[in-house]
Amino acid sequence: MSSADRFDAVEAVRAAADLHEVVAGYVALKKSGARWRGLCPFHQEKTPSFYVDSDKQLYYCFGCGTGGDVFKFLMLYEKLDFPEALRSLATRYGVTLPAPRSGGESSERQKVVDLNREAVTFFREQLMQPAGERARKYLAARGLNRDVAERFLVGYAPEGWTGFKDSLLRSAGAARDKREALAVAAGLLARKEETGRTYDRFRDRVIYPIVNLTDEVIGFGGRVIGQGEPKYLNSPDTAAFNKGENLYALPLAREAIRREGFAVLVEGYMDAIALQTAGVTQAVATLGTGFTTGHVRLLKRFTEQVVVNFDPDAAGRQATRRSLETLLENGFEVRVVALPTGKDPDLYVREEGVERYRERLKEALPYIEYLAREVAGRVDVSRSQGKVQALNEVLPFLARLDNPVRRAGHVEMLASVFGIEDRLVLQELKEAVRERRKDVGSRATAALSSARRPESEAEAGLVRALMDDGGVRQALLPEVNEADLSSARVRDIVQAVRRLAERGDEVTYPRVGSEIGDDAKDVLTWIAAIPHPPMTEDAGRGCLNTLRAARITRQMTDIQRSLESCSPAEMDDLLRRKLALKKQIEALHGVSA
Ligand SMILES: [Zn+2]
Repeated sequence: MSSADRFDAVEAVRAAADLHEVVAGYVALKKSGARWRGLCPFHQEKTPSFYVDSDKQLYYCFGCGTGGDVFKFLMLYEKLDFPEALRSLATRYGVTLPAPRSGGESSERQKVVDLNREAVTFFREQLMQPAGERARKYLAARGLNRDVAERFLVGYAPEGWTGFKDSLLRSAGAARDKREALAVAAGLLARKEETGRTYDRFRDRVIYPIVNLTDEVIGFGGRVIGQGEPKYLNSPDTAAFNKGENLYALPLAREAIRREGFAVLVEGYMDAIALQTAGVTQAVATLGTGFTTGHVRLLKRFTEQVVVNFDPDAAGRQATRRSLETLLENGFEVRVVALPTGKDPDLYVREEGVERYRERLKEALPYIEYLAREVAGRVDVSRSQGKVQALNEVLPFLARLDNPVRRAGHVEMLASVFGIEDRLVLQELKEAVRERRKDVGSRATAALSSARRPESEAEAGLVRALMDDGGVRQALLPEVNEADLSSARVRDIVQAVRRLAERGDEVTYPRVGSEIGDDAKDVLTWIAAIPHPPMTEDAGRGCLNTLRAARITRQMTDIQRSLESCSPAEMDDLLRRKLALKKQIEALHGVSA
């Protein structure tokens, strides 16, 4: 439309629309002098500071300072852009918007939208006809009653090839060809290439009209009733419809999404309907397509938190993962509900009830954790090889999270799900996460996949203390009791160091390496590779104490176990030994403190 036309249209809509009436649809207003007053819908408040001035057709909030006209209100409240707010009000107040300037796409868009309305009427009538009995039975079997069918405008496309076409063209007269062409453009009729003949696209299907935020019917989804392929059939992309930019049932869900703070994302029309009907009103469905950036833009108007409840088997599917990645990359907080295999949300709510479903929503795991558990279920993470593989499957997703705090928050979870106890490996993991790496570094990989190294940090620290500084070595060697070392490989290293030192030989990594077996050499190389500050004598002694305390603790655990099954005669002795060990530990802590 030209700018003059546009200006006229905006003013015509503004003149026709009643701000008080529009606002009163969302906010309880009370007369206050010449104005209306209510609780502001744009900020939390207990005493009303939100005013509507009917004379000036303006609203204003003294609490948060927001204010404007009827367009602004609708844009803010319903998260519409200006053209959407304009269209919505024009429809509501019966103002005809002028055809757009080019007379091209947008007017075709309007024609498609108008034709879709006619089609809705037709499909809904068909549902009530005798021919619609199977569809009614199908819907009833899924607990969808008449009220619900009406709210969602559910209809039925009859069997045969020309039911809709005949009805469409019956009274068209001279406009017959034009209407037929429009119906093809709207995706309601399909045209056979060879013959040029047209036929109904939707046949013997339950029809779910797709409505946008301004209450226009922009397209249709059709589900086959019995067997048959495809199970779901959508409108093709038309002047009015792009399935990558619309979400099913969003208009009915937006209020609840706003209220609950998150959207529930499901795959099927029936899932969205069943959840909304059961009271989980914030449920919306993708239209048989992956989640696109168009969806992201749309949903972001309302929330940045999504609970995804896709088919349980689908969570592992590549397409689903890509959808979730798109959400993650765009800053969404994504959680995943896992229902038992074979249960979609619709079935689950019917069988288990909505309260159980709400519990599932509450328990929904952050996507990364969900993924980690899924990986841990199929990879043997008790083996080091498995840990590396599992980490490398999850890290690419973690790397997509922009927010460093959110990323870091997952480290502990990964360590616990994959059973990573080694603090040095954990350190590597933290670095990988902080640097948004897509795999754990070669050091951690080497450390983990040497598969035999339960060496603790204290043991590594002790080795460093003995290796790095001659003075420290000399001071500590006499204090090292090899029995305190839980790792045979570290024991090998320490013994080699002792031998070399006693012989007066040089103690270097290569020299020690030549004295020990391959297993121990792996450990030594690994310890050398981890960056570390030089060890002081005190730090080295701290390691020794930690190792001694760990051994004593192990001994105490053994005694405790014996105590549970010992004879009364043995008990005294065991208790005495336990007490002695306890004193030793206390003494150690005294030393190290
Ligand atoms: Zn306010």
